[in-house]
Amino acid sequence: MELCNKEILSEEILPVVIVGNGPSGICLSYLLSGYTPYLSPEGFHPNPILHNKLTKNSDLSLLDQDLEYLCEGVEGRSSNPVAVLFDALLLPDGDFGVDCASPLIWQHEPERAIPHLVLGKGPPGGAWHAMEGSMLTLSLANWMELPGLKLKDWMRDKRRNVRNDRATPAEIASYYQHYVTKMGLEKSFACGTTVTSVSRVSSTSGGSFWNIKGLQRRANALEENEVPFSVYANNVVLATGTHDIPARLGVDGENLPFVCHSFWELEAAISSSRLDRASEPVLIVGAGLTAADAVLAAHHLNTPVYHAFRRPVSDPALIFNQLPKLLYPEYHKVHQMMSQEQHKVGERVENVFITSHADGSRPYTCYPGYRSFPKHHVVAFKPDGKCVLESEEGIQTVLQVSMALVLIGAHPNLSFLPEQGRSLGLDSEEPVSCRRNPIEVDPYTYESLKEPGMYAMGPLVGENFVRFLKGGALGIACSIAERMKQQSAAENCTVSSLNIQLTNCTLEA
Ligand SMILES: Cc1cc2nc3c(=O)[nH]c(=O)nc-3n(C[C@H](O)[C@H](O)[C@H](O)COP(=O)(O)OP(=O)(O)OC[C@H]3O[C@@H](n4cnc5c(N)ncnc54)[C@H](O)[C@@H]3O)c2cc1C
Repeated sequence: MELCNKEILSEEILPVVIVGNGPSGICLSYLLSGYTPYLSPEGFHPNPILHNKLTKNSDLSLLDQDLEYLCEGVEGRSSNPVAVLFDALLLPDGDFGVDCASPLIWQHEPERAIPHLVLGKGPPGGAWHAMEGSMLTLSLANWMELPGLKLKDWMRDKRRNVRNDRATPAEIASYYQHYVTKMGLEKSFACGTTVTSVSRVSSTSGGSFWNIKGLQRRANALEENEVPFSVYANNVVLATGTHDIPARLGVDGENLPFVCHSFWELEAAISSSRLDRASEPVLIVGAGLTAADAVLAAHHLNTPVYHAFRRPVSDPALIFNQLPKLLYPEYHKVHQMMSQEQHKVGERVENVFITSHADGSRPYTCYPGYRSFPKHHVVAFKPDGKCVLESEEGIQTVLQVSMALVLIGAHPNLSFLPEQGRSLGLDSEEPVSCRRNPIEVDPYTYESLKEPGMYAMGPLVGENFVRFLKGGALGIACSIAERMKQQSAAENCTVSSLNIQLTNCTLEA
């Protein structure tokens, strides 16, 4: 959709603008487009208390019910109560990996639709378009699906198989794009748009609304350019995810050209043959899944790998200790490498990658060409390609590397908000981050506690899995629908009180 062609560019105020077109923005757009969940007549929920509550109001849609009441006593693997509730309704007993039918049916009720606009830099699907195309997703495939379209049905139609109940990021990205078309949401999506500012504007009536400004990418046969746009909205939803700015170590030499912060740079080095089996080792810093993917990619190429991370290998907080081995064999392999090939204090690092000793014997190692440095942190990178690591005990090791990849997570880019949105976080002194400092919202409506009329969802409120970010869409859709109902009731009230005054005037005259 080209924004300049839209009437909304006039002074009209839209009810909702969503910034971000990943799974969060798409799911919310679905609910705001009039798709309404009810308890199906044959619907059954394995949680008897929830089932009873649902049957008592079976004629009411979920959007018209008291979410706080429904959430009571429902437990799950998210700290957001509405996320747990909606997940329990969409995927009952999902934790057991069973495909238990949802007790909900979805009806399209266009009269409920709330006009909205979804803005996003790329095509619908968000971070999934930026991930490596061939790796398998971490979650079971159906955890990534959105309401009303079974991922397995779509995959079957595409004649693709879901391996081990997992799909590739490219498949998930394609599913999200298809979902937007299939559900008729396209008219609300303006892709190729980057929001550059969101600011509050005071209205003459004493209230306020939001002004959202940005740039839209346009391409014709001759050139590509960016056209500015500006829209107004009563409510703005932040659904921008958190994968925009790679986290940095903050050590000396981090800006040196051989120090990189994204998986893509490793791929680029491999495909341009800058990196091969004859290269100096690659240093990978971090113990998350992206770091694990990088270890696998480099190891696959037979490039020697040093792998440094702060935690001990057995730390329960390490993601590898939380994943079932059978479902994630490749990550299990990385975990095994991390544990079996640990650097020993005093060991000469030059000896790490020798393939045979002077006497012709081969050093015993299960994973030649890989060495892990648990409980180590980076002290500095040097211009000559050296990297200084330090162990917990303060012992330093100097490594010569061809490339260092720092893969320790990412931060959201909220540069379009005053002070990068710091004031919205739990701790307003610190930058917003998914794990440590999410945006502080009401747990049932997802409205910011600091900025009324501003909502946030997804990783921005600490919900890093698609499975649970859908709860944010439910909470926000309910809250905005309720607010609009109250507004129109108040407007009716004002109109009727005006009528009464006028009638009285007439009478007095
Ligand atoms: C390597 C990797 C593997 C993952 N594996 C899984 C998994 O297996 N299962 C799972 O559930 N989750 C997984 N995740 C997490 C998953 O990606 C997120 O939970 C999900 O994509 C968040 O959805 P979102 O819509 O909130 O944000 P995103 O998907 O990040 O989408 C937000 C969109 O907003 C856009 N945007 C940002 N700023 C602006 C702006 N100023 N103007 C316009 N647009 C903007 C971004 O470009 C992006 O396209 C993984 C993440 C990574 C990085």
